[in-house]
Amino acid sequence: MRAEPQSFDRVLSSMCTEPHPAAREAAERFLATNPGDPGTYPTVADLEDDAVSLLGEIAGLDEPAGYVASGGTEANVQAVRIARERAENGRPTVVLPESAHFSFQKAADLLDVELRVVPTTDDGRADLEAVRACVNEDTAAVVGVAGSTEYGRVDPIPELGEIADSVDALLHVDAAWGGFVLPFTDYEWHFGHAPVDTMAIDPHKMGQAAVPAGGLLARSSDLLDELAVETPYLESTSQATLTGTRSGAGVASAVAAIEELWPDGYRDQYVRSQNNAKWLASKLESRGYDVVEPALPLVAASVPTPLFEALRDEGWRLSRTGDGELRVVCMPHVTRDGLESFVADVDRLETRVGLEVAGASE
Ligand SMILES: *Cc1c(COP(=O)(O)O)cnc(C)c1O
Repeated sequence: MRAEPQSFDRVLSSMCTEPHPAAREAAERFLATNPGDPGTYPTVADLEDDAVSLLGEIAGLDEPAGYVASGGTEANVQAVRIARERAENGRPTVVLPESAHFSFQKAADLLDVELRVVPTTDDGRADLEAVRACVNEDTAAVVGVAGSTEYGRVDPIPELGEIADSVDALLHVDAAWGGFVLPFTDYEWHFGHAPVDTMAIDPHKMGQAAVPAGGLLARSSDLLDELAVETPYLESTSQATLTGTRSGAGVASAVAAIEELWPDGYRDQYVRSQNNAKWLASKLESRGYDVVEPALPLVAASVPTPLFEALRDEGWRLSRTGDGELRVVCMPHVTRDGLESFVADVDRLETRVGLEVAGASE
């Protein structure tokens, strides 16, 4: 096998990044461990406890329950599962904004739970009136997104918590991507700000851990116990995770990255990333493109399809939002130098594409 992984130079749309060197080293060391079998692999099981308490510290929760999941998808699926197990009626529903990640669709399919999708307001956040009108006694959970995948928007989490409480539903916050930048903003998003019951928060995104390292947090261990099944052939007696054998690399790298970077390293990174996002937004705006103001380090801008395709052909790894805007996630590997050469390519290719379009219409 002589294949080489891609370089991160032109990767602009990924929500993952190069692991911090300490995280890479820890991942390699713990590659052959399985936190799913704590009786056999006690060291990595202890590290997982450390990971959960560190994640709790970031998310405003003193005595957190939870585990290191394979990613935000698993954390969201499991949060919906907790809500379903706790619900007393036959066909529970989950109320969530249209900005929620597609992993909730997987949760609904797997768990036979019905999704009630409500619109967002013009600023891309959950429409509270619509959420209020949608909840009822069948609602098992209300979902708030803290850092949406497409636009980096943060829903009004405390208000969503009140609505969830009013119908005795759980409040789940999806901070899979946003969890490691939100502590340095003024947003109210975590357990300390609102009656949050469960949360997805991924070390393998802004946390700079190696993949796979997602996080599921719960306000109390009885919520996590809703997931527990008995484990006859292991020395431990029950298991709350969705997967059985799991990567010790993810767990160890999460602890290493957080110990290294929380809070100062993450704060510096947030400031760099947010400044880069603002810089890119202003450069694209001054070229006449419609730009969605970056609330978090994520820029969305409407560019013509031929330009988008020309940039992809140049090797820029870009993606589009559901509405077709170009999307740039200012992850740690996305530097100002990199963005400068991206903007230079926008200028160069814009001219070329413009000439081609003009030529074709003659
Ligand atoms: C990335 C993301 C997910 C999914 O996480 P994976 O780690 O890719 O499974 C869920 N929710 C949000 C908001 C995300 O940005």
